[in-house]
Amino acid sequence: MKKVIVIFALFACVAIVFAQQQQQQGQQQQVQPQRPPSWNPASTEWYYPAPPKVQPGRTIGQPPSDAIILFDGTNLDKWESSRAVTERGQRPESAPWKIVDGEMRIVPGSGGIQTKEYFGDCQLHIEFKSPPAENYHGQNRGNSGIFLQNTYEVQVLDGDNNPTYVNGMVGSIYKQSAPLVDPYTKNGEWQVYDIYWKAPVFNGAGELVSPALITVVLNGVLIQNNYILKGHTPYTGLPVYTPHGRLPLSLQDHGTEVAFRNIWIRHL
Ligand code: MG
Repeated sequence: MKKVIVIFALFACVAIVFAQQQQQQGQQQQVQPQRPPSWNPASTEWYYPAPPKVQPGRTIGQPPSDAIILFDGTNLDKWESSRAVTERGQRPESAPWKIVDGEMRIVPGSGGIQTKEYFGDCQLHIEFKSPPAENYHGQNRGNSGIFLQNTYEVQVLDGDNNPTYVNGMVGSIYKQSAPLVDPYTKNGEWQVYDIYWKAPVFNGAGELVSPALITVVLNGVLIQNNYILKGHTPYTGLPVYTPHGRLPLSLQDHGTEVAFRNIWIRHL
């Protein structure tokens, strides 16, 4: 009789465990996400809004139809002196650089220039040419800079047999990121930058929500691949973010006669 009771108890236990497992499986099935009723190719296709039609330049590097032409070789109307704004805080003065043979050339000592228009996310095309090397070396040879939003420098420097710290060479995000490779050609030859800029975003309290991102192509070669900036690009000290909105694009006067041409930009 005892054996019968023990066997019965064992059966009862197995039955209870089995029932619990069934119940758990049922609960698990209940929390499974519901499958969509049915998918077809059109379920993941949309037609609006259609991207605006843009006419590309006839040759690579020429501005597409929706670009803002910042310099076409004829005038500096889109630019003003950075010095007038930063030092006196008064009405901006005209850009103090000169035009020679369709090139915009730095007048050393006159100060940087900046666009009258303000920019956030953008695509920028700009070409530069280093002046004769003369007796300059390192950071003093053909130094200028492209400052996105007046704050973040993509270095312009003569890269022709001109050793310097690599996070300050041509193609660097100054003091933050050396270029992946060095596609600079020769002193005196035009160098072509294409820059894709995602501006930093700040909230209403001035806190950083998302950092700036930059992709840089020099002479058709990718040299900065979605680099995440740590902040501004100071000569001394570490980068930090200070909240801002749209700001001008500016070009640096670092004391040598760097030339620029074919500058255009697109808001993104
Ligand atoms: Mg510089």
